[in-house]
Amino acid sequence: MAVSVDSLIKKAETNMGKNINPVVKQTAIEVIKRAYKEKIYVLISNGFRSFEEQDKLYAQGRTNKSKPIVTNARGGYSAHNYGLAIDFVIVSDDGRRAIWTVTDKWRRVASIAKSLGFEWGGEWSSFKDYPHLQMTKGLTMKELLSGKRPVLTSKVPAASSYPGIVYKVKSPLMSGKNVEKIQKEAGMKKSEVDGKYGKKTETAVKAYQKKNKLKVTGTVEKETWDKMF
Ligand SMILES: [Zn+2]
Repeated sequence: MAVSVDSLIKKAETNMGKNINPVVKQTAIEVIKRAYKEKIYVLISNGFRSFEEQDKLYAQGRTNKSKPIVTNARGGYSAHNYGLAIDFVIVSDDGRRAIWTVTDKWRRVASIAKSLGFEWGGEWSSFKDYPHLQMTKGLTMKELLSGKRPVLTSKVPAASSYPGIVYKVKSPLMSGKNVEKIQKEAGMKKSEVDGKYGKKTETAVKAYQKKNKLKVTGTVEKETWDKMF
């Protein structure tokens, strides 16, 4: 069974840490969600790092030679130290294995992230840092170190709010764009998405509710709507 989007988000929240910039955090979660819809499973392994933690990491492969060098940045010289960067890796369908080979999936995640305002370390000319995404708005490390901070605005669209209609099977069949959205979210096949809330939709919604531990009603009330969108 595929890893759930909720577990990927929970792990991300833990791994990014409390001092992650809120816009970076919200955007990272949106990247996970969008990639998930394309069956690309993104694990965020890192976010905020204190100067001390950064210095420790810098020592790896230098003073501490048991492991390879992983960074060229000392404490204060990484966007992670300001809560402005995250690291990601693609994981296998069950979520258990990291896939480090840089494939089209990696490039796709990077392109989703870039469309939402991230800069990708995989495009740096000197040192390619494929797992790295940051939002510094062009500020240099020296500027960050001297106390300057970027003003970040989120590009994540606000969640579509509940229209206040309970979607359920009735006669005449409930229809429209929202029903199509529900059908897609409930995992119905493309050929079955017809915008009409019939028995098939009810069955799909029930399965969705069961899977997401919601009250299984077969109708879309606010609780189910909020989970879907
Ligand atoms: Zn990084």
